[in-house]
Amino acid sequence: MADAADAPLLQAEGIETGYGKVQVLWGAGVDVRARESVVLLGANGAGKTTLLKVLVGLLPSWRGTVRLGGEDVTALRTDRRVRRGLAYMSELGVFAGLTIDENLRIGGQFVERAALRTRIEELYAVFPDLAERKRASAGSLSGGQRKMLGIAKALAAGPRVLVMDEPSAGLSPLFVQQVIGVLGRFRAQGLAMLIAEQNVAFLDLADRVFTLEGGRIRFEGTVAQLHADDALHRAYFGLA
Ligand code: ATP
Repeated sequence: MADAADAPLLQAEGIETGYGKVQVLWGAGVDVRARESVVLLGANGAGKTTLLKVLVGLLPSWRGTVRLGGEDVTALRTDRRVRRGLAYMSELGVFAGLTIDENLRIGGQFVERAALRTRIEELYAVFPDLAERKRASAGSLSGGQRKMLGIAKALAAGPRVLVMDEPSAGLSPLFVQQVIGVLGRFRAQGLAMLIAEQNVAFLDLADRVFTLEGGRIRFEGTVAQLHADDALHRAYFGLA
């Protein structure tokens, strides 16, 4: 493909899918370019998780295309997408019955052994709370620490693009700010990210925003453009 170098790192186009006969997504799409941080904003039930599952290959799409680095991966299994540089953090994120170290090694299961050891040491430097408790079970961590482990586990794969489902889920506002702080550090290093959220605090991380409503993309643009649209501003930020 002549323009593969300019192609978005990750792109979904015209996605239609659902569960059984119930259609949830109606031609939805999103894209993330290199070094870009994109927030997919939407209320409960808008279809964010469904779109992310299609992007990572956990749910088939009835129509539409998913591309990774310009390559059509619509029919590829999730593990093949991971090997091509995609990492996914689901809302649950970690294996509670395994240790912190085991979770990180699972996250990096496709990475060559020596490189993985180096990467895990780098991650422990960024997440000192995890480094202190390498052999503790993930289930013994607080909600906030567990979320940090979920992020570290996804990063252990050394992804080109990190896809996250509601990193704020279940966290107190203080932990939400800590998660945003950590993700901000990786953003500054140029990691491409797609973050599905209903918490507008994550817009601090957004180079671009998509809003999803009733399974359709309603808006795509910058945070400033979102604020400039009266109806959208009211919908996501209230009347204040
Ligand atoms: P949330 O913030 O609640 O996770 P979301 O934007 O991620 O919301 P989805 O989880 O994608 O939304 O759900 C979109 C719609 O699909 C909802 O109406 C939901 O009830 C429905 N849905 C989700 N998962 C299933 C499933 N496994 N079977 C049937 N319907 C489902």
